[in-house]
Amino acid sequence: MSNSEWTELAVVETAEPEESAAPVAPQPVLAVVGRPNVGKSTLVNRIIGRRQAVVEDIPGVTRDRVAYDAQWAGRRFTVVDTGGWEPDAKDRAAAIAAQAEAAVALADVVLFVVDSTVGATDVDEKAVRMLRRSSKPVLLVANKADNNAMEHEAHALWGLGLGQPWPVSALHGRGSGDLLDAVLEAFPKEAPRETFAAGPRGPRRVALVGRPNVGKSSLLNRLANEERSVVDAVAGTTVDPVDSLVVIGGETWQFVDTAGLRKRVGKASGTEYFASLRTAAAIEAAEVTVVLLDSSEVISEQDQRLLSMVTEAGRGVVLAFNKWDLVDADRRHYLDKEIERELKRIPWALRVNISAKTGRAVEKIAPALHTALTSWEKRIPTGQLNQWLTALVQATPHPVRGGRAPRILFATQPGVAPPKFVLFTTAPLDPGYIRFVERKLREEFGFDGSPIDISVKPRKEKGPGGRGKTHG
Ligand code: GDP
Ligand code: GDP
Repeated sequence: MSNSEWTELAVVETAEPEESAAPVAPQPVLAVVGRPNVGKSTLVNRIIGRRQAVVEDIPGVTRDRVAYDAQWAGRRFTVVDTGGWEPDAKDRAAAIAAQAEAAVALADVVLFVVDSTVGATDVDEKAVRMLRRSSKPVLLVANKADNNAMEHEAHALWGLGLGQPWPVSALHGRGSGDLLDAVLEAFPKEAPRETFAAGPRGPRRVALVGRPNVGKSSLLNRLANEERSVVDAVAGTTVDPVDSLVVIGGETWQFVDTAGLRKRVGKASGTEYFASLRTAAAIEAAEVTVVLLDSSEVISEQDQRLLSMVTEAGRGVVLAFNKWDLVDADRRHYLDKEIERELKRIPWALRVNISAKTGRAVEKIAPALHTALTSWEKRIPTGQLNQWLTALVQATPHPVRGGRAPRILFATQPGVAPPKFVLFTTAPLDPGYIRFVERKLREEFGFDGSPIDISVKPRKEKGPGGRGKTHG
């Protein structure tokens, strides 16, 4: 095929920069601990700027730890409220200490709240001993310092040995700004921003991959010819010359590393090794992938390897079953079986049945890419995530292991592209349970077309021996 068809192509004048989603850096965690009634919940509401906690207190229902999104001076973080957490422990003091310990183990910074109108109690002092053993930065909050006189009283709390008390009135807001400044100081240094979605966005980057002869060149040509619109430049962006800019449905997409495909219809590709290196690089450079399969042939090991590459790279997937014109009822029957068997690892991948040759359903590719990208960049607010998770684990708790069931304390989504979730737990979770959580997470929130990453952060066992109880 001559190159001429690639030269008479329309030039796109401007690309509308889309609203770029704010990059989500991993959020540090702030735990708020202290005795009941010292004002933890009031302080948390003050920090998250809300009058009402998201999770309501329902009489008779034990409220577990809850986490919220917060922001101060442009920095986002997660606040974990330990208020209202009252386990069925006989020894109340021990229970409170355990509660504090759990929160401390998973936090980056701890706010230890004391009621300055009461002063330090025995329970406070017990908690302090644990806090001092931990290596976590602790800020001592002298709450209910509603006026100057009370602020003065707060100085008595120096005696707890946690350093400077921060006089605060959670109720009125007094002192809370200074406290939050100190919290930000104590957080780990801000992680570098994620590379994607930074700055004004050019065309979305797509990798069109598939083993030789599945129809990649044909599809690219079809997409380009149908729209008569492979373009060479988009104002304000630099595009690698090996990439193709293709307008589909009035929108420009950047197909990564397609130089070979442009010229190559029908010709055999380079060595497989070289081809796979290039494919890996293209996937890495892309935000979303079209993985082309030949529906007239058995799903092969090579197809599987490609799919693994894509999902391990954390990219969105649209599976395009090409050559659909060759699929008859008989083949359809076997293909369905193959899909069930071979693609069960990625039930979330989007599927389109197309024919590059006839043009069948190729118009469905762009909407599928959008769905995958939306999922890929989706973020669930921490409050919503935890409300849902609390209900989930209540309905279906983790199975008991060695006499105990690991518990999920709370979850956050520290990243997007692809979505990353962290479950903070009392102990490691069964892989089966993690899969269950993923399945339910997808059922509830979507994420079609995108891989998601769930990691588990079990609370660290204390003591040098690992699991032994420390004596007190
Ligand atoms: P928690 O059990 O530690 O979560 O405590 P709460 O946040 O539920 O507060 C317990 C009580 O203390 C409530 O009646 C609050 O209104 C009150 N309170 C909280 N913060 C302050 C404060 O800064 N000043 C005063 N005067 N009362 C407060
Ligand atoms: P590539 O190696 O993945 O770029 O595949 P090509 O685009 O070169 O296609 C390989 C062969 O499959 C060529 O002979 C194409 O004409 C043929 N082909 C591509 N798409 C289709 C299709 O949808 N239906 C049929 N019947 N043949 C196709």
